[in-house]
Amino acid sequence: MKPRYFDHNATTPLSDVAKVAWLDASQEQWLNPSSPYRAAAAVRVRYEAARESLAERFEVASGRVVFTSGATEANNAVLRHWARSLPDGGRVGINPTEHPSVIEAAKVFFEDRIHWLPLAKDGRVDMHALSELVSSRQLAAVSVMAANNETGVLQPWQAIAALCSEAQIPYHCDASQWVGKLPLAGLAACSYVTACAHKFGGPKGTGFLLLPSAEDVCQLLLGGAQESGHRAGTEDVAGVRAMLAALEHSTVGDSAPRDAFIERITTMIPGAMVVGAEAPRLWNTVSLIMPQHQSVRWIRFLERAGFLLSAGSACSTGKSTVSPVLLAMGIDAAAAGRVLRMSAGRETTTEDWQALADALAATYQALNVEAGASRGTVISID
Ligand code: PLP
Repeated sequence: MKPRYFDHNATTPLSDVAKVAWLDASQEQWLNPSSPYRAAAAVRVRYEAARESLAERFEVASGRVVFTSGATEANNAVLRHWARSLPDGGRVGINPTEHPSVIEAAKVFFEDRIHWLPLAKDGRVDMHALSELVSSRQLAAVSVMAANNETGVLQPWQAIAALCSEAQIPYHCDASQWVGKLPLAGLAACSYVTACAHKFGGPKGTGFLLLPSAEDVCQLLLGGAQESGHRAGTEDVAGVRAMLAALEHSTVGDSAPRDAFIERITTMIPGAMVVGAEAPRLWNTVSLIMPQHQSVRWIRFLERAGFLLSAGSACSTGKSTVSPVLLAMGIDAAAAGRVLRMSAGRETTTEDWQALADALAATYQALNVEAGASRGTVISID
């Protein structure tokens, strides 16, 4: 039987519309858009139409759109660009629950000039502290994501965009987990926005960066005039068209089946705790600290039972380190080692969520029996 997939924040299956667009572009528009003949110009027209279409969705000028190989490239590029262009000695305010592609790039490009932004108890950036930092001119730029990949916690990016705009400092918003799941309205107010297609039914290795303006001198890759000089390299027409097709067909999902799951699981497994429970969160995500047993043991058992889910971000899975996101939220390392992340897609049904709850309860029983057997006792969950 096909496993039930609960790891959409890691990646999503290619949607049917994206597949059709990708195949069409690969068959019909495979010429290099920069080649000098008319047939290539026709490919350029389709590529630029995709840029216009993305720009319209965000209500920005198309000159702000740079297509990239995904969000990692775009996030790295913004931090590198800031390291070159911000005033000497300028400090950046970084949310400590960012994706590693922001955190690690900030560490390399800014070293000791990072101000880790304080978080409120619910995992959201403390707006009071941030506004003090901004108004006292301690920050030259700010990076805070829209939605967290591990916990689904939504950051107050609209308020941060307003704050930074008033103080005239650039604000980067990694919207990788927001785009395709929630409305795009308002994101244009962030100076830099980054996202990738494979989180919403588009192909892997395709994404985009919104610049503050077409005139911004951010250069992602050198060696060609593509993307108006912002990013050299032959354009991925098929990937971009597929991304746009996926985005056009994405809709806001319903959190009710996930909420019913939480209700059910916290009753069936007393002590299971939702991370960021007090914060607004993505409709598709729940991060649970289980009362016992390491994440990896749960994941192995659940895979055998036909469920695919993860412990945190795909990047940290498989490593023995605990999630820096959970540590930054004040969760202790032992509890963070028992985390499970479930993230649904639009194809996930209420019945899938119910089956997952039952599988978790059965897995808990089995893990307890196994642990009890190795200790000579049996723990019951009843
Ligand atoms: N930012 C966030 C919040 C993500 O969830 C991801 C996905 O792993 C990335 C950045 C990296 O995106 P990509 O896989 O396109 O490099």
